[in-house]
Amino acid sequence: IYGPKRQNSKGVNLNIRSQYQPLMDEMAAFMDKEHNVKPLLAIEVADDPANTHAVLCPFDRRVRVGSVQWTTKAQASQAVDAAWAAFPRWDATPVSERAAILRRLAELMESHMAELMTLCSREGGKLLTDGVDEIREAVDFCRYYAMRAEELFGDATRLPGPTGESNDLMLAGKGVFAAISPWNFPVAIFCGQIMAAAVAGNTVLAKPAEQTSLVAHRVIELLYEAGMPRDVVQLLPGDGPTVGSVLTSDPRITGVVFTGGTDTAQIINRALAAREGAALPTLIAETGGMNAMIVDSTALPEQVVVDVIQSAFQSAGQRCSALRVLYLQEDVADRVIEILKGAMDELHVGDPRDLGTDVGPVIDEDARKGLSAHIETLKGEGRLVAETKLDPAHTAHGTFVAPVAFEIDGIDALEREQFGPILHIVRYKAEDIDAVIESINERRYGLTFGVHSRNESFAEAIAQKIRVGNVYVNRNIIGAVVGVQPFGGQGLSGTGPKAGGPHYLLRFATEKTLTINT
Ligand code: NAP
Repeated sequence: IYGPKRQNSKGVNLNIRSQYQPLMDEMAAFMDKEHNVKPLLAIEVADDPANTHAVLCPFDRRVRVGSVQWTTKAQASQAVDAAWAAFPRWDATPVSERAAILRRLAELMESHMAELMTLCSREGGKLLTDGVDEIREAVDFCRYYAMRAEELFGDATRLPGPTGESNDLMLAGKGVFAAISPWNFPVAIFCGQIMAAAVAGNTVLAKPAEQTSLVAHRVIELLYEAGMPRDVVQLLPGDGPTVGSVLTSDPRITGVVFTGGTDTAQIINRALAAREGAALPTLIAETGGMNAMIVDSTALPEQVVVDVIQSAFQSAGQRCSALRVLYLQEDVADRVIEILKGAMDELHVGDPRDLGTDVGPVIDEDARKGLSAHIETLKGEGRLVAETKLDPAHTAHGTFVAPVAFEIDGIDALEREQFGPILHIVRYKAEDIDAVIESINERRYGLTFGVHSRNESFAEAIAQKIRVGNVYVNRNIIGAVVGVQPFGGQGLSGTGPKAGGPHYLLRFATEKTLTINT
């Protein structure tokens, strides 16, 4: 069952300095640069110092990375006007031309990798290894969606019909899409949403997360350089409720592609439904998770711990796919926990630009406070299992949270997703496995799930019963690869479409049947 030991799911051999040194040398040129950006709209945007907000570095809050001028409500409405007007022209543009722009952007992102990675690190707190994965995933999205668009949106599909009649099925764009993205994959998800919508023939209004608008801005500049018309993709940085309320209340918005918290998705869903006189909208929502892993007594404890550490703590646990609840069968629990404690002692928390760092900062002070409150509550209940030590020499000025593990009684004990390096452990008896599966399903989050077992029929049976979007057996549960592991959840975790999968673009398309009596 076990293959060769992986370093990470994408085959990147971590912590080999020689592999990263050339990139780090290139990144040095961008380390001190200040980025001051404005919305990128079809109209000119005047300077507005009163509406400009500083961006601070998460691993050293004394450092100002730049500033972002937020989009006003009036500008957001004007952006919808431009996108609405541009739609028929863009939808009529041959798919080969649309796809060519995505491929040029992929090349530009590759040639600007060091600059984009520097921004991911300084603005988003990303480790170098995570930064490489991030840009590669964005590049993969561009190339994969370009390829799928040409396959799907090229020639019409000829369907059978009686003699003297032709029937053709054609795909086209739906209209104007709002693309609302989170900060935790500020290039990959940001880009994936926009490229899928645009290559399918839609015009796009992109609202990046507040915390990562600088890198989003740079990507859109590269997109324009790749040939994307300014009225086809516009960038609307700003406050979610302000910009979001304009986009989700405008009847001309045909669809929203959203990635972020479940609560936010529900607000957007209600706003779209409340619009008077609007066409029925498409909502593609990819949201939070309460991801679990089940480990039975046949699993190899050492391999389990490697995969748990990656799943729970890589990217400081700030992945929607990250492991939140680890179920250990009681026969193996003590052994796994003992190795886990040792492994957590070895983790180094600190500056994400240092190759020796395993865990970087969490995104901002609000996130740190929220996670700390949860940690203090569980500590107060005496449930602490292990905690990595923070060294103030490396963490004093940033928003760091030490990786931590607690025992809890079951997934029901968790009120909401804790989006950080916090692992919850539950012991279970072999005879209770059906109740465990039922409790995970009843929680109604359905994003990722893992099983560790050398009993193939056990693993298969669990994988079949669990209601989630992505199941991983005997490996970590993060790092889905575009075109290989289509990604997306169900229930409270999303509306179901799989980003990076063969059917994703269909969600952005309308189908038209043309019947001609010849
Ligand atoms: P978030 O707070 O829900 O924000 C996501 C985006 O929505 C941001 O751009 C935000 O803008 C915007 N927004 C906030 N309120 C809005 C409103 N009323 N109307 C329209 N837009 C609004 O989520 P986050 O903290 O950025 O990201 C973390 C969450 O994303 C986690 O729950 C994680 O699990 C989830 N996630 C899911 C996936 C997946 O594929 N399933 C992938 C990655 C992340 P502001 O930045 O201005 O608030």
